Amino acid sequence: MGRRLLFLGPPGAGKGTQAAMLARALGVPHLSTGDMLRRAVTEGTALGLRAEGIMAAGDLVPDDLVVAMVEERLAEPDASCGYLLDGFPRNVAQAEALATALGDGAIEMVLLVEVDEEELVSRLLGRAAELGRTDDNEETIRRRLEVYRAETSPLVAHYPATGIEVVAVDGIGAIDEVFARIVVALAGMPAPLPTVPP
Ligand code: ADP
Repeated sequence: MGRRLLFLGPPGAGKGTQAAMLARALGVPHLSTGDMLRRAVTEGTALGLRAEGIMAAGDLVPDDLVVAMVEERLAEPDASCGYLLDGFPRNVAQAEALATALGDGAIEMVLLVEVDEEELVSRLLGRAAELGRTDDNEETIRRRLEVYRAETSPLVAHYPATGIEVVAVDGIGAIDEVFARIVVALAGMPAPLPTVPP
């Protein structure tokens, strides 16, 4: 079993970019619920049809739908050698559902990517102009930040309370600089036990 990591941080912190880079470096799948849901919307699946309006408003897709989607993905063979979760869990109920589904070892360590709110808004508005994501208009951005504060940020205290370390990384700076900080943060963490005898 390889790394089982969780990336936490507000929208616009760059955690998706960093999570993709780190997953590639570690050779584990990058599981982004935002990407999975956007794919469902594009493909017009039943889940996508339910999620579309909710995502456009900046609200959270109902827990039962997201939890089922993640459980299905984690059951795929590539996730048996570890994974990097990005965008899930997004509230305490989802964290508890994950712990129930996978047991106590589901997450080894949480990486919190920190960026102040002013910078987040300007980054997200910039991204809106570039990529045209439908949830990147100013009103939705404010709503997503509000949802993060109310629903997701309590995980920063929840995980240590359940014995899982949260390591904060400064998300301001060039992509490579932030990545280097993440590598340093991970280096301080004990290696996972080998599953195969040497
Ligand atoms: P960001 O972190 O930039 O807001 P994401 O790509 O992680 O973007 O998520 C985009 C949207 O997808 C969220 O605003 C939400 O509507 C939905 N979403 C993603 N992950 C979850 C989740 N775990 N639970 C509920 N909704 C989710």
